[in-house]
Amino acid sequence: MPSGATLVWFRDDLRVADHPALLAAVERGAPVVAAYVLDEHGDGVRAPGGAARWWLHHSLAALGDELAALGIPLVLRRGLAAELIPQLVVDTGADTVLWNRRYGPARAIDAELKARMREAGTEVRSFPGDVLAEPQELATASGAPYRVFTPFWNALRGRPVAPPLPAPDAVDSPAEPVAGDALDDWELLPRRPDWAGGLRATWTPGEAAGLERLEEFADELDGYADRDLPAVDATSRLSPRLRWGELSPRQVWHRIRREGGPHAEAFLRELGWRDFFRHTLFHDARLATRNLRPQFDAFPWADPDPAEIDAWRYGRTGIPFVDAGMRELWATGAMHNRVRMSAASLLVKNLLVDWRVGEAWFWDTLVDADDASNPGNWQWVAGSGQDAAPYFRIFNPERQAARFDPDGAYVRRWLPELGTDAYPAPIVDLAASRERALAAYESLGGRGTAPP
Ligand SMILES: Cc1cc2nc3c(=O)[nH]c(=O)nc-3n(C[C@H](O)[C@H](O)[C@H](O)COP(=O)(O)OP(=O)(O)OC[C@H]3O[C@@H](n4cnc5c(N)ncnc54)[C@H](O)[C@@H]3O)c2cc1C
Repeated sequence: MPSGATLVWFRDDLRVADHPALLAAVERGAPVVAAYVLDEHGDGVRAPGGAARWWLHHSLAALGDELAALGIPLVLRRGLAAELIPQLVVDTGADTVLWNRRYGPARAIDAELKARMREAGTEVRSFPGDVLAEPQELATASGAPYRVFTPFWNALRGRPVAPPLPAPDAVDSPAEPVAGDALDDWELLPRRPDWAGGLRATWTPGEAAGLERLEEFADELDGYADRDLPAVDATSRLSPRLRWGELSPRQVWHRIRREGGPHAEAFLRELGWRDFFRHTLFHDARLATRNLRPQFDAFPWADPDPAEIDAWRYGRTGIPFVDAGMRELWATGAMHNRVRMSAASLLVKNLLVDWRVGEAWFWDTLVDADDASNPGNWQWVAGSGQDAAPYFRIFNPERQAARFDPDGAYVRRWLPELGTDAYPAPIVDLAASRERALAAYESLGGRGTAPP
């Protein structure tokens, strides 16, 4: 029987099932204390945006209940994890600290902590919990990271994905309670004004609701055939579950793979993109701030026009397909993937606004915003990413709408004033701005899309 308690440090893995660190802690047999540190200023940490903070609050509340049922207290602390985790070791009398690994720049904190705590005699172990394959497990024949999705996907698809682990049984000897913050005191929820009504109406954060949604989606998998139609509820809507780790990618992978067939295969490939961007971030920590193709540093972005950018943000561009998406985003914290691509393309290509401006807005408004998939997709749309849309692919939002929202159900849902004088005229001429964008991209000398 070990002498000290076990501390499990939760991060983007707010669940009890398929949680390798938690299972290992309970199996150790000592009292277990769970901790979540709201670290907004640590090295490499990107503080969550407004919609994400709303989700985090509710997901932590749900996790606290799940853990309490297992006899495990969840201690909340706010500040630098590099200081608070060693402090928690002292406060809890832990001799072992366990966590699931993360792959963004904040992993530098983990590496430093691991070395420091081990030196002080604490056992520290980390586990894979947030990806289908860890970045160090996948490389090209020459040992380099994959830069292009299709070969990455072929390599990932050809490997076995570890089966998910069960939730642990309740602990035999509960830990002594340790002082922590009250969740409400973190003020993660908007108060004045309370803009979260649409989020509450759309989502129930937490592992139990996530598992329920996974089952429901698996039962309706045939509907994924309509995944490109934003008016239809055809996609899984699992992205915030995966973002916050209420579900692990392995759970989702195995549950959907069990269904078999072309829709399962199409879905698994989408899930592959999530891993792809995590691997990309692992190999280039500056994904959110730096063009992956350095040629793009010379790109002639237009001088930012605040009125134009606001029209885009709040769904008043006069381009219905894009405006509907931006209003859906503002109201619900989510936007259909096809509309995300069109909205991003309008900003970056038709308005020639630097992709980082749009990325920052999505960061603040999406409930699924994460530091790999959000910048990764923005760089994909801009063409500055490694495996990116070619520069001449400029989404035409009118054609997108005609093809994917043929009866206008989606735009009418979000733009009640469409067809009246209250709806604005387009702020940009799509044809002329397309030519301007092509000229801007060509000014990179055709190098914009050459392999880096
Ligand atoms: C500009 C832009 C920004 C985006 N920002 C994010 C983001 O911050 N977080 C995020 O999870 N997704 C992001 N996406 C990808 C995609 O739009 C969402 O994952 C998807 O719309 C979520 O809905 P779903 O769960 O119903 O998708 P489904 O079609 O059911 O897909 C299943 C899962 O696969 C993953 N996935 C699907 N497409 C992608 C993709 N292109 N990139 C990475 N993972 C993917 C997600 O985890 C998703 O939950 C962005 C896309 C664009 C074009």
